[in-house]
Amino acid sequence: MISFAQAQENLERLCRSWLASNPEVSETLCLGEALGRYLTADIVAALELPRSDVSAMDGYAICSPDAVGAKSSQTFTLKGESRAGEPFEGGALAPGECIRIFTGAVVPASADTVVIQENVERDHDLIHMRHDTPTGSNIRRRGEEIARDTVIARYGQLIRPNMIPLLASQGIAQVEVRRKLRVAFFATGDELKAAGEVLDEGDIYESNLASIDAVLQQYPVELINMGVIEDTPEAIKACLTRASTEADVVISSGGVSVGDYDYVRQCVESMGVISDYKVAMKPGKPVCFGHLDRGQGSKALFFGLPGNAVSSFVVLTELYLPVIKLLSNREVVVANTQREAVLDADLTRRGGRLEFQRGILRGDIDDAGNQVMRVAALGSQDSHRVFGLARANCTIKIDADIEHICAGSKVSVSVFPWAEDL
Ligand code: AMP
Ligand code: MG
Repeated sequence: MISFAQAQENLERLCRSWLASNPEVSETLCLGEALGRYLTADIVAALELPRSDVSAMDGYAICSPDAVGAKSSQTFTLKGESRAGEPFEGGALAPGECIRIFTGAVVPASADTVVIQENVERDHDLIHMRHDTPTGSNIRRRGEEIARDTVIARYGQLIRPNMIPLLASQGIAQVEVRRKLRVAFFATGDELKAAGEVLDEGDIYESNLASIDAVLQQYPVELINMGVIEDTPEAIKACLTRASTEADVVISSGGVSVGDYDYVRQCVESMGVISDYKVAMKPGKPVCFGHLDRGQGSKALFFGLPGNAVSSFVVLTELYLPVIKLLSNREVVVANTQREAVLDADLTRRGGRLEFQRGILRGDIDDAGNQVMRVAALGSQDSHRVFGLARANCTIKIDADIEHICAGSKVSVSVFPWAEDL
């Protein structure tokens, strides 16, 4: 049995070596589809922004005598108007002349200052200045925000919604992004039935396929659900063969313990390598990962999950999700957010494995008025207790050699990725 930390290290090495022999593949997508994907090329600005000198305010663009800006009590003669999309076309302004102008409209080259409308008094075509306005005021200069040829987004950057205004304002409709990581997954277990099917004595509804789908669907991952596979070596091998040709990563659920019908591990061994088997984590001791050979030196990664619903969920989110993110970003392992929190009540357990107890983390104010995070462990921590899991927003990590923790102690907590707004 290896420690959780050792398993993480081995898994990272396995994934990095897979990345080294599997170059990235790009595809061209429109902006909406590219959300949540990684760029595979720098994006260079094709346009200066703004494209010309434009007004930052509604007001009057003036051609001031000696270009010193507006002086209080000066009067300018109105010559026309410039509005967004319709620039002033009445020729160059002479000193003492002005035009009406609106936000975003082109400032004529002959104007030196925009005076905001609150600072003037209008009398038909005569515009009286009520205050001084320094020269150059309220004008956004051409290329001020983005000069031509500026790199506006870099290779490897993740496209988030806040990048879309920038890209769209450049007239960019499509970008080159990394293809999604392909993840095929299947469950083993002859007792597993799909929702809607009648349960015979001893049957249960299958829940790990939906759970893998739910955890991974918020990442740039193409999910290939291969369903429930019969508990026979032939069926499992056939599934592994198909999965490894279609996917970069194959995830299995169940069948990795030492029971008579636990064939997954031996099937993977016959088709590739199981790098590790048994990790000192709780829930989830029967954890194995490695790779599947798919011919011509090419490999698919293999991540085995235990069958119990909670074990499967915890192993996926704590052990595999961080490296699935590495496989997507091709750079760094991204662990769930780790926080320190004060434990609500005494906790006693059997030591030996790093335990991920499901908990509820919440913000609180202590007696001295300081913000503090508190965490409560959810009652029974058996590895099939899906009710507790449903109420949790984190796991409390308890080191292998710790058997008792007193209320009020600081513990380390791993926050579920979808509960990070705590
Ligand atoms: P196994 O790892 O195959 O020995 O399964 C361990 C336990 O988890 C057994 O009680 C199984 O019935 C249960 N189990 C296995 N796979 C699933 C699944 N996909 N959904 C729900 N429970 C499962
Ligand atoms: Mg089974």
